[in-house]
Amino acid sequence: MNVVTAQIDKAALIHNIRKIKELVPQAKIAAVVKANAYGHGLYLVANTLDPYVDGFAAARISEAMSLRDRGIKKPIILLEGFYEPNDVPLIAKYDLDTAVHDMEQVEAIEQAELDGPIKCWMKIDIGMHRLGASPEEVAEMKIRLEQCVNVQKPLGVISHLSVADTPSEYDYNAQQIDYFFKTASGFAGEKCLANSAGILKWPVSHTDWVRPGIILYGISPFAGTTGADFGLQPVMTLKSSLIAVRRVKRGAKVGYGAAWTAPEDTVIGIVATGYGDGYPRTAPNGTPVWVNGRMVPTAGHVCMDMLFVNLGPGAADQVGAPVILWGKEVPVEKIAALCGTIPYELVCRIMPRVNVECVG
Ligand SMILES: *Cc1c(COP(=O)(O)O)cnc(C)c1O
Repeated sequence: MNVVTAQIDKAALIHNIRKIKELVPQAKIAAVVKANAYGHGLYLVANTLDPYVDGFAAARISEAMSLRDRGIKKPIILLEGFYEPNDVPLIAKYDLDTAVHDMEQVEAIEQAELDGPIKCWMKIDIGMHRLGASPEEVAEMKIRLEQCVNVQKPLGVISHLSVADTPSEYDYNAQQIDYFFKTASGFAGEKCLANSAGILKWPVSHTDWVRPGIILYGISPFAGTTGADFGLQPVMTLKSSLIAVRRVKRGAKVGYGAAWTAPEDTVIGIVATGYGDGYPRTAPNGTPVWVNGRMVPTAGHVCMDMLFVNLGPGAADQVGAPVILWGKEVPVEKIAALCGTIPYELVCRIMPRVNVECVG
């Protein structure tokens, strides 16, 4: 029996990267594969995308080094730079590109003993206030990096949009893009700005390089929409099975905390997936689950290894019946919205005990 499987569809991944290339015909693409490729499997995703992209982007040096160790030869950008000076020689050894977002990092690069220069992307803060040189710091950081023998010339410039997915902040996003171009015009090297939302909604943000993450996986960055609205296909299908089917009487209190009471005599199914697999415990009563070809609602609190569904009074489903928690049949965007979170969190929270199966 399939207990719980994250099925990864390589054909969907290739479909999505082709779609992205149509949207950004002029730009180079760095596929964002941080956090185990958003829970989809780092090597599987990187190897599948390698022929279609110009490079990759990672959050941690460990992710980037393991891609190199597994034979990825294209540029790999460290989006947050590095966390300690000892990492600089590793960046050189592994031939990584690094963002440089503060003066401590500049100093570490200046002081490192390297055989040759490393490729740096100076990160500027255009409004998120997370990482990057503030407007007051830009000039000095740029001069220091441009004068540093350990930095390849020309110096690249990178930033990140904080509200490209937020319609109510349209003006703030436009202001960030404006400021990016004004500041970046002083740099001789390549520019890199757009995330998924920028790629889909803000062509002006495309620049030399783009960094798609969530749309690679067929998921929409915009609330109230799904990847299908943009011609994308979900790459992950989270599948399971019924491990028990039982009749309960009207008034039966189901699960921990008696969080659901049967409104009539009915049949409930027990699905072999819980929050210990990454299915969110915050899923409220009524969250849709695909069972045996139709949608049924969850009932009661999600447990660590199981969850309940109300199959309905006349249900004839048997133990072993197939279940889909999310995928083409049940958009993960919809589950996330019901749980008060974003689909990014759901897919990257898939737990190691979940079986990963590749198709396509
Ligand atoms: C995660 C990340 C991305 C990708 O964002 P998506 O919304 O998934 O496309 C791009 N750039 C940076 C700096 C990131 O941290």
